[in-house]
Amino acid sequence: MSEVILRTEKVGKRFGGFVALKDISAEFRRGKITSIIGPNGAGKSTYFNLLSGAFTPTAGRVEFEGRDVTGLAQHRFAHMGIAKSFQITNVFPQLTTHENIRVAAQALVSRFDIWRPRAAMTDLADKADHLLERVGLQDRRNRPAGTLAHGEQRALEIGMALASDPRLLLLDEPTAGMSPEETRVMMDLVLSLAQERTVILVEHKMKLVMGISDRLLVLHHGELIAEGTPDDIRRNEMVKRVYLGQREH
Ligand code: ADP
Ligand code: MG
Repeated sequence: MSEVILRTEKVGKRFGGFVALKDISAEFRRGKITSIIGPNGAGKSTYFNLLSGAFTPTAGRVEFEGRDVTGLAQHRFAHMGIAKSFQITNVFPQLTTHENIRVAAQALVSRFDIWRPRAAMTDLADKADHLLERVGLQDRRNRPAGTLAHGEQRALEIGMALASDPRLLLLDEPTAGMSPEETRVMMDLVLSLAQERTVILVEHKMKLVMGISDRLLVLHHGELIAEGTPDDIRRNEMVKRVYLGQREH
């Protein structure tokens, strides 16, 4: 298998006349954690949406495992092994945590494997239990998702994303709005998930991801201004300037 799992070639995204992202060429390595950082409004979520297939780029191309996936429908991305969790929490509040994960797993089964026998439902329930445990929510199994703490809801969302057994997991600011303790728990989870799959992480707080990232990309005003190891990025003059005067780094 190739060392590069995902790459973009001069991708861009316009919203009407506004260029949110311009000419981004980058490679993401298999089995590594790559973080996409930059100040608010830099274009991180836009790039994330291009990588996860939620948006079609208005220029350039996206390749996953050597295959051109530009403009493919969102569900095809899930089927290929790419899963994501958005910046905004997205769970079914009235369903229990177990039901939320089961629904996520079920969605994939019914879409891609409609002839599976009913016995597969028990597999789904078991799988949901396994995933709940994986994200540390086993003791919240029967609680409506809407009653969970914010950090737990984000962990649940990741559990739902894992239902498709993704080779690539994309996370957009998974610690947004979290307390320091919730943030610590989430970063530990991200690290442990990265043992088993490739992770791409979007984050505006640079300090948070410096310690766990193998590589970083830095976006600013829709352009890729730097990329490299944490040491490269720490030493980069342009990055220092961009982050100077920001309250959170
Ligand atoms: P980040 O995630 O780095 O904070 P975004 O990718 O969300 O930045 O946004 C980058 C720029 O694109 C911002 O100026 C934002 O206002 C603009 N933008 C994002 N989404 C849209 C959209 N759907 N329509 C118009 N402008 C958008
Ligand atoms: Mg964003």
